[in-house]
Parts: sequence; structure tokens; C-alpha cells
Amino acid sequence: MASNIADKNFLILGAGVTGLSVERWLKSRGGKVTIADDYSDAGIKTDGIELKKFDAVVVSPGWKLDHPLLVEALDSDLEVLNEVDLAWQLKSEIAPHQKWLAVTGTNGKTTAVEMVAKILQTAGLKAKACGNLGETVIEAVDQVDPFEYLVLELSSFQLHWAKTAQFHSSAILNIAHDHIDWHGSFEMYAQAKLSLLEKSEIAVLNADDGEVITRSASWKGRKVFFSLNTPAPGEIGVVEELIVDRCFVSDPMEAQMICEISDVKPTIPHNVSNAMAAAALALSINVPHAVIQKALQDFRPGRHRIEVILEKDSITWVDDSKATNPHSAIASLNSHLSVVWIAGGLAKGADMEDLVQRCKGRMKAAILIGQDSILIENALQKFAPEVPMVKVETPSGYVKGQADNSLMEQVVTHALSFATSGDSVVLAPACASMDQFVSYADRGDRFAAAVKKLVSHAN
Ligand code: ADP
Repeated sequence: MASNIADKNFLILGAGVTGLSVERWLKSRGGKVTIADDYSDAGIKTDGIELKKFDAVVVSPGWKLDHPLLVEALDSDLEVLNEVDLAWQLKSEIAPHQKWLAVTGTNGKTTAVEMVAKILQTAGLKAKACGNLGETVIEAVDQVDPFEYLVLELSSFQLHWAKTAQFHSSAILNIAHDHIDWHGSFEMYAQAKLSLLEKSEIAVLNADDGEVITRSASWKGRKVFFSLNTPAPGEIGVVEELIVDRCFVSDPMEAQMICEISDVKPTIPHNVSNAMAAAALALSINVPHAVIQKALQDFRPGRHRIEVILEKDSITWVDDSKATNPHSAIASLNSHLSVVWIAGGLAKGADMEDLVQRCKGRMKAAILIGQDSILIENALQKFAPEVPMVKVETPSGYVKGQADNSLMEQVVTHALSFATSGDSVVLAPACASMDQFVSYADRGDRFAAAVKKLVSHAN
């Protein structure tokens, strides 16, 4: 398809980052493109579109599976393509020696992918992070002077559609409830994640994650396990204060240091896991241990990921707005001893009971916001009725994206009334943000602004 674009008629479903990037690229190759999106002015509305006018359909990753136009396209003889496979075909043409590494998982993808890119760049390799973050894969491939390595962040949606792309090595960081509403069930979501194995020569797998272990058991390729426990021969793990390699060493009875745990910042268990996955991917292409250590020492995760925004009166204020599912919120709550927890938003079909059961011992109080807060409220009432809870309703006249920050200011005012010396106030919503905020970044920025106004400047 990539070599056969000129004068063909393409229909792109979805005018988001991926759709617009594919549109630019197809047009640059002489393709004729129509882009459809019911919710964006960048595309035409889907009703009235006649599929028979098109030669192929390109579906954006998050496009709803039950959308009538997609259902019709899948039932027809039309090719239904996706961006990752298009990029793969282009790579095969213009950069046959380029190698692809991939990361998926419910949480930690962006952090791990950025770690890998940093390690490879520190090793002097021409490498780039792309995919479900920053630049699209097609943009990263379509270079006059191609990259030697692409490190792809792959969401469950992208994996659902990708069929032909192949990876030298891939990591699955963890698998927990998320995006159940889109996939239809946890089983389907997990299967999408696991489909990465079939496309990979080497799989880097989290030995501390039961779902990953069980679901990868029947795969016959080369597995490299990482764990926060002492590594067996053939694994990467932790020994006292060190991350050690017993896999990519000449004698697996020996262990070689990759770095000190404290080289990984923030030095919290799930981030150390991410670092081990990143190190394993780098080791799979023979990057030396010392280079990995140097790169990890210089690395910091992106904003809104357990970001400390203020420490005052021995109370720590933490923006973990990127904790958009229960699994990441559990990791966040477990990183602090006594937490005033701010949560709620769009649950995406995830169950909140496990989170409350596991973390109730850390919760000093809960402040709930957003559309699905009732799920968290019910879970708290059932399993942690002793935890004080406040529900903050959307203020009247509040419109998302506008200057009014009264919602977060009310949240912070309540948090101040609960928090005492030694506590952490943590925004780790376990939910997506789009019901009340423009994005998770907007949610985090508004929390930080409210903290600055009501806490930093208060006496
Ligand atoms: P993703 O790209 O998968 O969303 P991020 O690196 O952006 O991952 O992190 C998303 C959220 O998950 C953040 O709140 C972060 O603190 C948390 N997180 C990062 N790594 C892990 C992990 N290995 N396990 C659980 N939570 C994690």
C-alpha cells in the first residue's frame, strides 16, 4: 500500500494527532484523502459518507469499534489500515536497516520509552521515541536521514489494529484494568497487549506482574524477565541497593551491576521496574551497562507523574494527574505513607474496589470529583467506611478549559482541612480527566495553581 498511494482514495477515520499525521503523509505521496470525525472541525461528519468511493480506510487507534462506518468497512472488501502498519511498510522501503523496539503496559509506557530513547542516545545511537507520545511513528520513519532505532510506545488500541509491524525486542510492563469500555472486556484488553509478543523476537516481561506471567506462559520466543526481587540466572533484578543483570552476561551464574537503585529518580518501586525494563531493551541491542547507568542518572520522568509541587509545613503536595486508572493510583498511594487522596473523573469501566481494599491503610481522607466519583464513593463506603470522604460537586457555571479554577480551589481547601504534618496530598485520580478538564495536564496544572494560590502563599 505504501508504494501504491498516488491517486488512490483514502478515508481516514479520526482527525486526531494520528489521523492528521497520516493525512499529511498520504497527501505528500499523491494520495487523495478524506478525513472523517464527528467531533472535530478538522474532519467531515460521518453520516452520508459512501464507502464505495474509497480504495482503503485508515482507522485511528481510539476510534470506537462499534461505529457504524467502521463496522461497515470491516464487513466490506475494503482494506482497513492503521498508522503503525503503514509506517512499518514505509520503513521497509526507505529504512530497511532501522530496528524497532516497543513498550506496552497499562502504566509506565511513556516513562520507559523515554528512558530507552535516552539510553540509546547516550550510547551515541541515532534513536527516537515515538508512537503513543509526541511524534507519530510515520513521522519518525519518514526522514531523509533515517533513525537507526525507533522506540515505540504502543497503546492497547494501536496493538488491536497493528498486524504486520515487527519488533526486535518488546517490553510488557504490567497489565491491569483500563479501557475496558473500548475493548469490551478485560480479556480483550489483555489480549491486545499480549499480541505484541507475536510480533517480537525478544520479550522483556515483568516477573512481578501475575497477569504478564500467566498470559505470556505459552509464548515460545526468548523471554527476559525483570523483577524487584533477587534475579534468577537469565533475569534482571534487584540485589540489595543495586539493579543487576544476570541475563545479558557471558556467564549467567555471574551478576553484573547495571546501576544503583538510587540512580533511578524518583526512587520508588514502580519506577525502578520501568528502569529495569528500559535497561533490558537497551541490553538486547548490546548497549554497555555503564552507558545505561549514566543515562538513568540523568533521566527524570515527564510532568504530572508523581511530581512534587510543594513541600510546606511537612506536608507534601503531589501531582500525579497522569494516574488515570486504578493500577497507577495504587502505585502512587503506595509511594506515600499517609495520604489525603484526590480522585475521580471518568473510570472507563475500571473497578475501584480492589484499589480501595489495597490502599485504605494509607488513606487519611478522600476528596472526590467528577462523573464517576460514585464508583469510588461506593467502594469507600463498602471497604473503608472509616476514611473521611468529601464529594466536591462541579461549581455552577464552571466550564472546562476556562479561567475559573474554583473546582480545584475547593478541592485544595478541603485537602488543607485534613492534612497535617507528615501527610502527602496526592492527586492520583484513578480516572481520566476529560469530563471536567481539557486533559490530564490541564487537571494537574489547575491543581498546582490552586496549591500555589491557597497553600504556598498562605501562612
Ligand atoms: P503511560 O504512558 O503508560 O500512561 P506514564 O509513564 O505516563 O505511563 O505513567 C502513567 C502513570 O502511571 C503515572 O501516574 C505514573 O506515576 C504511573 N506509573 C508509571 N510507571 C508505573 C508502573 N510501572 N506501575 C504502575 N504505575 C506506574
